[in-house]
Amino acid sequence: MSSSSPSEIYVMRPQLPDHAALKKYISQIDANGIYTNIGPLVLKLEERLAQHVSVDADRIVSMSNGTAALQISMLSVKKTGRYCILPSWTFVATAHAAKSAGLEPYFVDVEFSNQQLSLQHVEEAIKTLGVDNVGAICLVTPFGAPIDLKPWEDLQDRTSIPVVLDAAAAFATVKPSKITTCVSLHTTKILPAGEGGFVIAPDANIAKDIRARTNFGFDGTREAKQIGGNAKMSEYHAAIGLASLDAWPVKRRRFHELCSQWKDAVSDLSGVEFEAGFGDKWFNSVAVLRMSLPLGAQCKEHLLAQGVYTRRWWSRGCLQMPAFSYCEHGDLANTDRLAASTLGLPCHTDLTQSDFEQMRNALEAFLCVHKLPPLNLAA
Ligand SMILES: *Cc1c(COP(=O)(O)O)cnc(C)c1O
Repeated sequence: MSSSSPSEIYVMRPQLPDHAALKKYISQIDANGIYTNIGPLVLKLEERLAQHVSVDADRIVSMSNGTAALQISMLSVKKTGRYCILPSWTFVATAHAAKSAGLEPYFVDVEFSNQQLSLQHVEEAIKTLGVDNVGAICLVTPFGAPIDLKPWEDLQDRTSIPVVLDAAAAFATVKPSKITTCVSLHTTKILPAGEGGFVIAPDANIAKDIRARTNFGFDGTREAKQIGGNAKMSEYHAAIGLASLDAWPVKRRRFHELCSQWKDAVSDLSGVEFEAGFGDKWFNSVAVLRMSLPLGAQCKEHLLAQGVYTRRWWSRGCLQMPAFSYCEHGDLANTDRLAASTLGLPCHTDLTQSDFEQMRNALEAFLCVHKLPPLNLAA
């Protein structure tokens, strides 16, 4: 590395289990001669995921990916009613899943303080649309931050509108609840299986229905009893998931340290913060910085000139995507504000001390020019 030009720092460096870590699982596949259709490795993975979240294994259903987990879950739990209420401030997969589950996305705003769907705005949307016209509500865990699900469980009980949780990026914090919860095991997520995902169902009956829908609606026979598709995880992907779980105790420690290092690195900078609890109570494979002013684009450009790559993970929200610009929606002022004032920073365990200095110096120089007022998110 030369001292005259800064080194390039990538935003993400996926780390999947290598050949040596996969070997014993691939040998099992060879010996079993079973490659898909819910084979022994998939069942083993489900059992270990169940242990991870402390739930009975009959509530876990593996999936080909996180988007399929959402789509199949919505198909399974939705009631009659045209709309799915969901945030625009999410990865566009959430909206795709709703649409392909036969629901029309209706975008509602999030809270500025924690980027989570606003309960008040959802209740207003239910009134506007009419309770009978809402088939489902989909919540999203913003960049892996844990959500208090109690108010949503209550809403689900009170209105009988099923709630699905997009916890795609929340493997490290996810917990079982009365809400159908979907996790992704994509390469970019903290527990990668290459492609993959799983659902934590509210009970074993719902899990059974979801399972049938991952396999053409078959439930023991070759008769399609439910609408679904093919969302099954292969034995090879289960092998990667199992090897990732073997490495989890080490990985979780390293990512917790990494996120805590990020938190410390910005703690004395004015006007920027991470979400409450980040690097302390929770961690993830992405680190999304919040700014007190809508300067995300300028900050991105400044950091890039210093060799630091960043990503606006959710762009400007789903409604701004051409495919979903036709959708109905409520007021989205906080979504617009968040889109303009958040930035995904480099977050992977290849980052060195000198990378951290380079990133911090680049941020500090930007903040020196722009003089951001304090943000005070945790307050
Ligand atoms: C990653 C992600 C998804 C999609 O998961 P895939 O496994 O890539 O299909 C959906 N929603 C959110 C919030 C995500 O971060």
